[in-house]
Amino acid sequence: MAKQIQAVRGMNDCLPGTTQIWQKVEDTLRKTVASYGYQEIRFPIVESTDLFKRSIGEVTDIVEKEMYTFEDRSGDSLTLRPEGTAVCVRAGNQHGLLYNQEQRLWYMGPMFRHERPQKGRYRQFHQFGVETYGIASADIDAEVILLTARLWQEFGISEYVTLELNSLGSNEARALYRDALVAFLEQHIEHLDDDCKRRMHTNPLRVLDSKNPEVQAILVDAPKLSEHLDEESQAHFQNLCERLDAAGVKYRVNEKLVRGLDYYNRTVFEWVTDSLGAQGTVCAGGRYDGLVEQLGGKGTPAVGFAMGLERLVLMLQELDCVGDIRRNADVYVAAMGDKASIQAPVIAEQLRNEVAGLRVMVHAGGGNFKKQLKRADKSDALVALILGEDELAQGKVTVKYLREQKEQITVSLDEVKTLLQALIA
Ligand code: ATP
Ligand code: MG
Repeated sequence: MAKQIQAVRGMNDCLPGTTQIWQKVEDTLRKTVASYGYQEIRFPIVESTDLFKRSIGEVTDIVEKEMYTFEDRSGDSLTLRPEGTAVCVRAGNQHGLLYNQEQRLWYMGPMFRHERPQKGRYRQFHQFGVETYGIASADIDAEVILLTARLWQEFGISEYVTLELNSLGSNEARALYRDALVAFLEQHIEHLDDDCKRRMHTNPLRVLDSKNPEVQAILVDAPKLSEHLDEESQAHFQNLCERLDAAGVKYRVNEKLVRGLDYYNRTVFEWVTDSLGAQGTVCAGGRYDGLVEQLGGKGTPAVGFAMGLERLVLMLQELDCVGDIRRNADVYVAAMGDKASIQAPVIAEQLRNEVAGLRVMVHAGGGNFKKQLKRADKSDALVALILGEDELAQGKVTVKYLREQKEQITVSLDEVKTLLQALIA
């Protein structure tokens, strides 16, 4: 036998049974963002490598070690998108959607990062994201957070997620803070691990979210970002908190929340859960007022978030919050004899025409009565419609109930339509 080829490590197939859950999640996401007036944007999976280097930052985990970068046949350096925000800005700039305009956009699709695969962390994963442009005030920060809170409600998992919130201040304030932090870290250099020592000079704020307990112990006495915030950012953050309070959205201010991407300023937030073990962040976002300009556009304030769909689906499964899944088939049509077998798909088409939303599966591949009924039973249909020579002659069908103890009946086609309508109502 030929050797089977396996999927690439960290890249998952999504099989029937699970695809239904994903479809349901995607439907809920689409409906919810639509209820806020957001519009979908779609962009390519492959982009110039420079786009991510210039936006996410050269010394971030993503750019340093996680990107799928390759040279194409023309020698251009391309990268499978590791995230959507930079791509959204690139597309917005390119098509003139951003400057002097307001946009409330969303996207959904696969992202790629070369990480060590584990539960909740994959090399191809999916994000649902929202990006808004042209609004500098905290009302829009509050709106995108409110939207995420509504999503948790829709999915029935509100009680399992908590919102962590912080402000990174203006770029100037952050630069001042960075100096203060580096000075502090230099005094404690003997307690820092290699990763932190390196970051101390390249991206010192990232030291704050080191997972190393020894480093965290030192950080207790580190200067605080909140003490370095500029006045405007302080007011912005207060206004955001006021709005969340008014809307009844609970949050925890986490001064160490800095996020791993360079482009954020002011608001940053994460929704975290204990239901997933180590990979506890389901959704993360913030404000990135400088990015549009940094990528060659004209200054445009922006705020958004991205949600990891594998983690969301895992949560729904583990918390038993998947809910009802629509049956794959309501009706299975079986036919006895050549004539009936030719007529069966014709009747099925009529049923699909006349009973909105009905899912009709027609037996294929021949076989005797027993085999066909076995297939009917294996499908998740509620009833089998049996079409034999007698039924054909009388213009009738026999309805056999597959999931309940009920006598089978032979009825006219009109009657069967009414019966099926009631069945799926
Ligand atoms: P983490 O700290 O878990 O690595 P991150 O800060 O790299 O997350 P973002 O770039 O902010 O994550 O992406 C937003 C969301 O996308 C994350 O909160 C998570 O739910 C999801 N996500 C990120 N990387 C992965 C991955 N490799 N596999 C699955 N989901 C992911
Ligand atoms: Mg990461």
